[in-house]
Amino acid sequence: RKDVGRITTGSTGLDELIGGGIETQSITEVFGEFGSGKSQISHELAVTCQLPPEKGGLSGECVFIDTENTFRPERIKQIAEGFELDMEEVLQNIHIARAFNSSHQILMADKVNELIQKGTNIKIVIVDSLTSHFRAEYVGRESLATRQQKLNQHLHTLQTIANTYNVAVFVTNQVQSKPDAFFGSPTKAIGGHVLGHAATYRIWLKKGLAGKRIARLVDSPHLPEGEAVFKIVTEGVVD
Ligand code: ADP
Repeated sequence: RKDVGRITTGSTGLDELIGGGIETQSITEVFGEFGSGKSQISHELAVTCQLPPEKGGLSGECVFIDTENTFRPERIKQIAEGFELDMEEVLQNIHIARAFNSSHQILMADKVNELIQKGTNIKIVIVDSLTSHFRAEYVGRESLATRQQKLNQHLHTLQTIANTYNVAVFVTNQVQSKPDAFFGSPTKAIGGHVLGHAATYRIWLKKGLAGKRIARLVDSPHLPEGEAVFKIVTEGVVD
C-alpha cells in the first residue's frame, strides 16, 4: 500500500502499539465496555487529524458519524485548546452526521463519497458507535445472519472510502466484559476471518486503576500483540 498516513491518538504509547498511529487505508476498531474511552478517542482523533504532519496529524478534516448522540462540541473545544488550536476552526472541520437507524447510518457512509468528491479534505471517518443500531434492530438468533450481512456491507463501503481516498476509518464497538463476547465481532466474521483484505486493527480497551486505560492490540495481521497504558484528561488522550 502506497502513501499510508498516520494520525496520532494523543498517546505515544498507544500510537506505538498500533505501529505509529491510526492508519489511512485501514479500518481500526476499538471495542470495550461502556465508559472504557471509545468516544473519548473518537473525539481526540477528530481533532488530531487536523494537526500538521509534524505534530502527528494529516492537516485534514473529519467525518463523525454519531449514532448515539455522544458527540460533544464542548469536549472538542477542550481538546483543541490543549493543542492550542482555534476551536471554532476545529469544529468547522468536523462534519457531523447523526445516524438515526442502521439504514440511515449506511446512507451516511455512502454520502462521504460525495463530500470528498466536492473537494473536502477528509482524512478520517469516525463511526461512534458502529454496532449499536444494528444490535438494536436485528435482535434474536434468526436475525444474526442479516445483521452481519448488513454490517459487512457497511464496512465494505467504509473500506472502499479508505482505499480510494487514502482516508483512515475508526469505528467503536461496545462489548461486555467477558472476552467470549468478542466472538462474532463486526470486523471479523465468525470463525476468525478478518473481513476482506483490509489491514484491520482491533484494540480492546479496559479501565485500569487510578483513571488509567489499558489498550490491547488483538488479532493484528502484522503487528505483535501488546498493551499500552494511557489516560484521559481534560486535554484529551495522553500517556
Ligand atoms: P465509551 O467507551 O462508553 O465511549 P467514553 O469514551 O465516553 O466511554 O469515556 C467516558 C470516560 O472518559 C469517563 O468516565 C471519564 O473517565 C473520561 N472522561 C470523559 N470526559 C473527560 C474529561 N473532560 N476529563 C477527563 N476524563 C474524561
